[in-house]
Amino acid sequence: MKQWLKSYLLMEKEVGSHSYRREVTGNFVILFSFAILFLLTLSNFFYSSRTVFYANLALLTGLCLIFILFRHHKRLVIHSIAHFMAGGIFVIVYVNQAQDYTPIWSFLYMYLIISLYGHKKGLIIASVFLICLLFFLFSWVGQTVTTLEFIRFSFVAIFTLFFAYLAELLISITFEEFYKTKSMLEKMTITDELTGLHNRRHFNDILSDKINSARRSNEMLALAIIDVDHFKKYNDTYGHPAGDQVLIALANLYKETMKRSDDVLFRLGGEEFALLYKPKGEAEAIDLLEQIRESVEAVVSDEKVQSTITISAGLYIIKPQKAQSFEQVYKSADELLYQAKELGRNRVVASP
Ligand code: GH3
Ligand code: MG
Ligand code: MG
Repeated sequence: MKQWLKSYLLMEKEVGSHSYRREVTGNFVILFSFAILFLLTLSNFFYSSRTVFYANLALLTGLCLIFILFRHHKRLVIHSIAHFMAGGIFVIVYVNQAQDYTPIWSFLYMYLIISLYGHKKGLIIASVFLICLLFFLFSWVGQTVTTLEFIRFSFVAIFTLFFAYLAELLISITFEEFYKTKSMLEKMTITDELTGLHNRRHFNDILSDKINSARRSNEMLALAIIDVDHFKKYNDTYGHPAGDQVLIALANLYKETMKRSDDVLFRLGGEEFALLYKPKGEAEAIDLLEQIRESVEAVVSDEKVQSTITISAGLYIIKPQKAQSFEQVYKSADELLYQAKELGRNRVVASP
């Protein structure tokens, strides 16, 4: 039961979005309304008149029907139940002439509404409800309700409403901060600090998925592994900070050249980069990489460094007809890069 309740109320779900709290409250509203109506119907069967029993049975059946008919519009059902509850409170208060603690339901209602609608909208709805209820109760003062009872109820209700608002506001602010930090951390774990490209962790995480999804959609996928030529010598001559600037300039060049939504760029480590893209054909895949290779010299001369930087690249084209693993693809691209180095550097070697 405990396990069921936890999973029904989504307590095991990761708090991943703004709507999480509302979803939990919504599920609680459904569970709560069913439980209350069921218990009421059952107790009415034994202890009340047939009329009250049939009235509650009709409500319970109505609730079941609404839930079945509009099950694809869960939010609408939840909000309708919540507003129906407000109407129910007025009816029950009226029937009992504000006696027998019947207005006490309003506290629960106000909490639920604020949680469902958020602090701003929730406060407006709950305030309107409370003002109406207080006017309603006031009409019984001097009859079934004493002035002191009315004042006491009003004070507690107003403070409860205010605190429910405050609690929701605090949760909202805390959640906002948490959400910001979470997405910042998530971004940091997949981003290379120096260049802002994706890092090797992300490359390892997504390459298999990208290969499989391209295969499913029958699309060609290209993986290029790019390495800067004689970069050690460059660093030794101009210093590490100048080397870093070259890496940043190269990353920016890749970003500017590869802007399609399917393009993913990585810095695998050191002076090694990977580009993953979906070319329309093999010729396009090679042309793009050749274009990048030719642009590299221009970029570096922009950096006012009197030295020529070149890159070598291994380009492996993954055709959808052939199932291949992450390891096979990466190894093949890496071997092609090795060939490019062997053949004299500053060149692209593509898979045959
Ligand atoms: P090759 O043409 O065979 O690739 O020669 P290379 O000198 O580029 O290759 P090697 O693997 O011998 O050296 C890689 C150099 O990359 C070593 C290091 O100085 C430099 N390097 C690696 N990471 C960074 C970095 O983050 N910043 C800078 N500035 N240099 C780096
Ligand atoms: Mg190198
Ligand atoms: Mg290298």
